[in-house]
Amino acid sequence: MAEKKKKGLKVNKAIGEAIAKCYQDAQTKRPLAWSLLAGGNPLIEIAHAAGIQLVFPENYGAACSTKHASGRYCEIAEAHDYSSDLCSYCRNCFGYIFAQDAEPPQGGMPEPDLFLMTTNACVHYIKWFDSLRLMYNKPLVMVNTPRVMDKGRVEDYYLEHTVREIEGAIAEIERITNIKVTHEKLSEAVKLSDELNDYWREIIEMQKAVPAPMNLPDIGNVLFPVVGLRGTREGVELMKQTYTEVKQCVAEKRGAIEEEKHRLMFLNIPLWYNLRLAGYFAEKGACFPFMDYAFYVWPPVKMDPSRPIESLAAKALYGQLNEGPDAQIDNLIRDIKEFHIDGVVIHSDRSCKVMSLGLLDAARIIRETYHIPVLVFDLDHTDERVYSDAEFKNRVDAFLEMLE
Ligand code: SF4
Repeated sequence: MAEKKKKGLKVNKAIGEAIAKCYQDAQTKRPLAWSLLAGGNPLIEIAHAAGIQLVFPENYGAACSTKHASGRYCEIAEAHDYSSDLCSYCRNCFGYIFAQDAEPPQGGMPEPDLFLMTTNACVHYIKWFDSLRLMYNKPLVMVNTPRVMDKGRVEDYYLEHTVREIEGAIAEIERITNIKVTHEKLSEAVKLSDELNDYWREIIEMQKAVPAPMNLPDIGNVLFPVVGLRGTREGVELMKQTYTEVKQCVAEKRGAIEEEKHRLMFLNIPLWYNLRLAGYFAEKGACFPFMDYAFYVWPPVKMDPSRPIESLAAKALYGQLNEGPDAQIDNLIRDIKEFHIDGVVIHSDRSCKVMSLGLLDAARIIRETYHIPVLVFDLDHTDERVYSDAEFKNRVDAFLEMLE
């Protein structure tokens, strides 16, 4: 049988190189910060404006998982009394530190000069980064954001509070690094972040095309510039390349998979250790044009470079992890229709309680509203010790039969 043509965006190679460069630069460039990614951390643009080199422990968890190193790192963390109930990103991070491997994935994350975090994603963050601060005896800069519980309605006093938090964080960063974060530098970073968001918005919109130009692994890849390189020229360039390629695919009706018969929605964080699973679905004509982790956790919020701190505050407040499940379910019901979805795959993630909260309700509401098949599986995004290939594929086969 002729081998099927290998699919995937060409820009994936450039994105892979950008990820490798980030870890290479971390080996030499100073000051170096370990920063959290989720929840649109406003300190990312601020760090780029200050010329602080960043590495991201969550991204490092995904990187270790793709290299099948994170199961062992999680095990090592657990042997040091870090509970198996903790997020696997967090366990991967501590396991990596305790392992002291001579050749860790991507060269590892060197000891930082400071830590950067926000509270707008999950409760793990605070204790995770507080432990790191104590372990390395290095300062932690934190932006404390209020939780938006009323279906995405951001009150003015939420914004005012977050603006004050960001101003305080900038003063702290300046004191620790002795680098002045001027209004000019910050405006430029926010301008670049806004440009990146413009491309991201268009790319998401183009995923509504039939056939879809990107499948799950493409979306997973493009997340790196979306979250880690916001506020940089490099990030904008990668997004521009992605946009151009995706646009061309749409114009030529060139789909991400050979023959798109089914369009699926993937809810929650992908299984980083097995992104090839998308290939298993693709063999049966099923593509994933939509992933809530990518599209809802880092929504392309409009930013105004003349009001950089206010823009960063707004960015920190909008997003699935800070808004609660009601807003998420409303958005899903809208997007199943808009993205022409005919089946939903839900990853009830043992690690990420905040992303998994409300997903069983979502499954019920989706079934009742659209009468489409919904597959719910219980696994972990980084810790592959809980994954069984045969078991998973059996369930996928049964689900795909329901779609026929
Ligand atoms: S629990 Fe979820 S939001 Fe928190 S660090 Fe883990 S993956 Fe991220």
